[in-house]
Formats: sequence, structure tokens, C-alpha cells
Amino acid sequence: MFRDKESFKQAFQERLESFYGKSLTETTQLERYSTLANMVREHVSTDWIQTNRLYKKTGAKKVYYISMEFLMGRLLRSYLIHLGIYDLCAEGLEDLGISLRALEEEERDPGLGSGGLGRLAADFLDSMAALKLPGHAYGIRYRNGLFEQKIVDGYQVEVPDYWLQEGYDWEVRRFDRSVEVHFGGKVWMEKVRGRLFFHHEGYESVLAVPYYVPIVGYRNKIVNTLRLWSAESIFKEFNINALSERDYTRMMDYKRSTEAISGFLYPADSTLSGKILRIKQQYFLVSASLQDLIKRYKRMGGDLRRLPEKIAIHINDTHPSLAIPEMMRILMDEEGFGWEEAWNLTVQTFSYTNHTILAEALEKWPIDMIQKLLPRIYMIIHEINERFCQDLWKKHPGDWDRIHQMAVEADGQVKMAHLAIVGSHSVNGVSEIHTDILKEKVMNLFYQETPQKFNNKTNGISHRRWLLTANPRLSRLISEQIGGGWIENPLGLNRLLDVLDNCSFLDELQKVKRKNKEELSSYVKRKYGIPIDPASIFDAHIKRIHAYKRQLLNILHVFYLYLRLKEEPNREMVPHTFLFAGKAAPNYYYAKAIIKLIHSVADLVNRDPTVKDRLKVIFLENYGVTLAERIIPAADVSEQISTASQEASGTGNMKFMMNGAITIGTLDGANVEILEAVGEENLFLFGLKAEEVLEYYARGGYQARELYRKDDRIPMVLEPLVSGFFHSGYEEFHALYHSLITDNDPFFVLKDFDSYVSAHERLEKAYLDRDRWNRMSLIQIAQSGRFSSDGTIRKYADEIWEIRSIEESGQIDQPTRSDS
Ligand SMILES: *Cc1c(COP(=O)(O)O)cnc(C)c1O
Repeated sequence: MFRDKESFKQAFQERLESFYGKSLTETTQLERYSTLANMVREHVSTDWIQTNRLYKKTGAKKVYYISMEFLMGRLLRSYLIHLGIYDLCAEGLEDLGISLRALEEEERDPGLGSGGLGRLAADFLDSMAALKLPGHAYGIRYRNGLFEQKIVDGYQVEVPDYWLQEGYDWEVRRFDRSVEVHFGGKVWMEKVRGRLFFHHEGYESVLAVPYYVPIVGYRNKIVNTLRLWSAESIFKEFNINALSERDYTRMMDYKRSTEAISGFLYPADSTLSGKILRIKQQYFLVSASLQDLIKRYKRMGGDLRRLPEKIAIHINDTHPSLAIPEMMRILMDEEGFGWEEAWNLTVQTFSYTNHTILAEALEKWPIDMIQKLLPRIYMIIHEINERFCQDLWKKHPGDWDRIHQMAVEADGQVKMAHLAIVGSHSVNGVSEIHTDILKEKVMNLFYQETPQKFNNKTNGISHRRWLLTANPRLSRLISEQIGGGWIENPLGLNRLLDVLDNCSFLDELQKVKRKNKEELSSYVKRKYGIPIDPASIFDAHIKRIHAYKRQLLNILHVFYLYLRLKEEPNREMVPHTFLFAGKAAPNYYYAKAIIKLIHSVADLVNRDPTVKDRLKVIFLENYGVTLAERIIPAADVSEQISTASQEASGTGNMKFMMNGAITIGTLDGANVEILEAVGEENLFLFGLKAEEVLEYYARGGYQARELYRKDDRIPMVLEPLVSGFFHSGYEEFHALYHSLITDNDPFFVLKDFDSYVSAHERLEKAYLDRDRWNRMSLIQIAQSGRFSSDGTIRKYADEIWEIRSIEESGQIDQPTRSDS
């Protein structure tokens, strides 16, 4: 199909016309996209089969990555590039009068995640395949992804994201691999010849049907698998022919409750609502996945006593921690292991990544809920806790306080993070500073007990997606200068340091950025009717809207710049375009109020002729992977301004850096490591340090009101929020005002304001010196290789999972390619 241009053209046209029964010119863009995507999926199937054969034959150790979220983004462009057939397809389609770029726009971007955690999982899959690591993943095929964000009168409105409407061309339904997952019911015990047997009865069965999505390696014939579970009903207990009205209602209720399990993605940061459903989703994911992987393992003749030598299971945050008691259940109740042996196997198999220290995101589930929904799993959790607490008691007799603080079960709740730590042999944080905070503060008691479990794995991003695929102009320029070696070995990007003083290269770099900015400008013009000047500084703040990420600080600063221009209309200012994008959790009032404020300020600024050429504010709707890919290549400045200590790592910061944007940021998360990489003179640092923030949290001593009195600029930007200056958003802006003043500014927005203003002043000055700026930009790109997720995944593979790339793990035949 993809051997050469002519055979591609012929195959494409034949399939398109025969499938849809119309001539090429009558087909829609969507039909053309779909045809191409299906051709690609079929094309990789040979390699897919070969990859699995290869893994089987070598008996290599595998890792299974379990995550409640995957933000895969669009796949067509990325896979065509990975397969080395992008140009061939683009040229072939062009001959047929079709633009490949336009077809790419037809692909839906499945929103099966809410933010960084889900995108990390996707980048990790990309790296595992690129590095030829036997790594597969499990997730949920939510019928509705994270809501689609619309803005109405400056407010966020959530629209269901039914991404499957037009079908999803990358998935293959594998009904033959379905498994049953059980909820509710009763457990009774029986003692037979001195052994306890557990019987689970009266449960409700849900069918878990997997959909397979291929994960295509970069030009290496490796195709790994992402399995997404869909929840379906099993009607076998109902006699459809003799259904009473009551039975009918019962059946419909059952169908509804079953299908709800994979109905919607609950963003992790929306608390309270849907607790029961969320627990069901979590257990559904882990039970289906473990049953599946154990089945596979046994079918290959694997000996369960050697499980940790052959399989590693990684849980992405605490959401899948029920996998630990589920593994115990399978090993004990189904496979006949005793507790001790089952526990050792489990702990040696599991590893866990902590993604946050935010108290509200550390999951705790009410015991009675778990007990009712998952009676057997609860018994196991209870026993894990008993044994764990007994061990602690032996080491710290009488230290009730310590034991209480560390218990898996306490105060009527199951603490999922404690379960994950106790049940894993490795616990990692996601940046150096975050891991230090885990060890020294948040999880310190656990660190004292088992220091050997704790380690750091700084997050990374796929340079193939975020540079090679998302920024073709820059990729081309880099490869022309230093060759294409950086694609296989991203650390090779540092060869760009050799051309740091090469003026013509720096000019070219600036031209690429300018082109990308023009492209984004025309997108903004098309979509919002607002002209933005590609010569202005493109300053981007794109991520989930959250108090700790401090979009409020940014917009208050923009408002300050505006008011200052109104006072001094002739003031010189480098033209600035502030770009925002991000979703707020549906029940997160404060974050939604920030979105409203951004829109109110934008409205004011964008309409005001006095500031016309100097200031623009744009909020781009419906943030997701695809929008990120549009904005990041065009950004000059990357806003990474979280309250220090609160951002575990951030990966947005790395994407911007890799695309040559300069960071303005706090010493938080991976910003610390970006600073180490580029040096203090190439990053605009401001604000409180993490220790200072944590010190204030622990001991107080900060008075927001005092700042309000002392610094004129603060009332200048805050008064209008409550004075009727804005003609809408009255309640929201009061709430923001009171969080800063009455609640004493828990995220230190006002505290960091002064230092943020001066960082921006330094930044503006630096931008005026174009040579200096371009050099700074080049340094970002040159040093970004260390943030490739390839490096991160190598460390996971070596230090946690102990798995090796398929080439190193033994003698293998090279699989042959279908088209060679
Ligand atoms: C990278 C990414 C994130 C994470 O961004 P942060 O700035 O690290 O919070 C969230 N959403 C999408 C779509 C992303 O691509």
C-alpha cells in the first residue's frame, strides 16, 4: 500500500471509492481521513503481530502501565512520521487534489484525560515503543471524554465530548478478550482441611470489553498495545422471553448502571461528586486489566511464583491502587497462594508514581463504600492494614500517633496513597524538588520506614511529538544544521550550542518562530475574529485552570499593564499578546471565576483603542493536545508560575522549552531542573521559594492585607474587582477578591506580585535585544534533550521495572516488513 507513491494513490482511491460507493471527488474530508487512517492501521498490523511474537519468543520481561487517563492526541500525523511515509502520502494525496494537512484536521482528539498525568502516560507509551521496550498499557474507553469547553459571555460552559460519534479509526474491538468484573454481593468463608476459602455471591457482573490501539514505534517495526476497557451489560441472568415489568425495570437499571462505568471521565480534581462511580471505574479498570494480564501470562506457560521476574506493573498515581488488593485476591482466591507468598509477589511486581502533594487530590475513600461495593477487596485491604500496623507496632511500640498517621485505613477511610506505598517496591516522585518534598514532608514517615522504596524520576515529554511532529519548521531547521541524529538521540540537540554565535542561524531560528506565530495569528483571527500582531511577544499560559497554577497572578499583571497604559497613554511598551487556554473542573467555582476574569480583562483590553497595538489578551477555547500543538511552537514566553512547592513537575514547561520559548517561572517542579540546564541568565525567575511557602503554611506570618496597604499597585488592580468597574462577573470577582484579602491569599498571588512584575520588566528588556533573545531561545532547544521522555523511560526501565529493550534481551529474528 505504501511502497511507492503510485501504489499508494491507487490503493487509497480504490478503497475510498469502494467503501463509500462514490467517486473520489464526492467523498467528504472525513471519509478521506478515515480511509487513510484505516490503511495505516492495517499497514501496522503485520508489525503488531510480529512484535507480539518477538516478545513471546524472547520471553522478555514486560511492563504494564495502568492509568485512569490517556491523552493520546491525534495519531495520524505522528504515525505517518514514525513509519517514514509522511512525505509519500502527502505527495500522493496532493496529486489527487487532497491536502494531507487538511485531512489531519478531521481527526478527533480523544479527551481521555484531564491534564499532565494523562499526557505523560501517552508520551511514555511513545517512548517505550521507540526504545523497543516490551511495554503495554491499560486504560478506560470513556464514551465521553473530558467535556468540551465552550465560552459563553466569558463563562465556561461544559458540553459532553462524545468523541466516538463518527467512530474511532485506531481501535480494534476485541470481544474475544472480554472478562467479567464483579461488584457488590456477599462474601462467606469456609474452612476446608485447615484452609480458608472465600466465596463471593450475589454480585453484579459487568462485562469488560477491550479495544486495542496500536502504539507505533519510531521507524523500528515495534508496535505495542494500549488496551482500553469498555463496560457492557451481561443479560444472561435475565430471561428475556418472560420478563415481568419489574424485571424489565431492573434490567434497564442494570444496563444503565453498567454502562455508566465507562460513560464519563471524572477529572481527578473534581472531588465529591460521583464518588461511588469513580470507585467502580477504578476497580473496573484494575480488575479487568489484572485478569487479562494473568491470563496472558499463564497461557504463555508462566509460573506465577516467578511473576516479578517476568512482569512489572506500574500504577500512574493512586487511581489504580486497588490493583494491589485485586492482585492479592487473584493470587489467593483463584490461584491458591497463601498470604505471605502472595504479598511478596505483589509488592515485588508493583511500583507507583506519586503525582501530587495537594491534599484534595490525595484520594481517600469511605470504608463503608468500599465494603459495600467490593466486599472481598475490602477484607484484603483490612488485612493489609492490620499486618502493616502490627509491623509498625513492633518497631515503634506505643507510638500510636505514628501508626495512626501511616495506617492504610483510618478515620473511616481508606487512604489510597498509603495502600499504594505499602503495596509497591518503588515509589517515585516526578521531579527532584517534588521527590524531596515527598521524602522530607508529605510521606516522611514512610520514607523513614522504607527509604529504599523512594526515588525520583523527573517527567519527560516525547520530542517526537512535541518537536518533530508539532513543529516541522523548527525540526527541519535543526536537522539541516546538525543532522537528524537528535531524533534517535535527543541529547544530540546540544550540538546546537556550536552555532550559538552563528548570526545567520539565529536569524533563521527567528524566522521559523515568526512563521509559527503567523500561523497561530491566522488561526486566532479565523476563530475569534481578533487580529493579533505576530511581531508582538507571544506570552502563553496554557494548562488546567487551578488556584495553584496562578492564572490569577498572570491576569492581574495584565490588568496592571493595561491600567498603567491608561494612566500614561504614551508609555513605551513592547507589544504583548497574552494567550491563555485551559479547562476548569466543572464544580470548581474559583477556577471558573478566573476564566471569567480573563475574559472580562480581554474584552476591555482588546476593544480599547488607546492600547490597541501594545496589548492583546486571547483565551483559546477547549484546551487539549491538539490546541497545545498549535500554540507551543508559536510561543516566545512560557508562563510556569505555580506557587512554589505545589506543581509536582509540570511537562508543559518542557514542551515550551523544546520549542524555544523562554520560561518566566517560580522555582517549582521541573522548572528547577530547567534552570539548572539553561542557567540563571536564560530564565526569568521570581517569587517565593518552596521552603518559604511551606514555612508560611506551617507557621503563618504572612498578611495579605498589609501588602494591600503598602503597595499601591495592589489596590489598583483589586479595587475594580469589587467596585462595579466590570459590568458582569460581579459575584465571581468578589469571590476572587475575598480569597486574596479575607482568606489571606493562600497561593501567595499578592506576595509574589512585585517580583513577578519585575521579572516581566527584565523579560521585556531582553526581548528588545533580538540577538540576545534568539541566543536564549536556542539555548532552550539545545538543552531540552534531557527532558525527552526517552531518558525518563530508560530510567524507569533500568531502575524500577528492570526490563530491557528487546534487542538487548536476546537473540531474535528481525521481523520482516509487510511492504518490503
Ligand atoms: C502537557 C499538557 C498538560 C500539562 O501541562 P502543565 O503545564 O504541565 O500543567 C496538560 N494538558 C495537555 C493537553 C498537555 O498537552
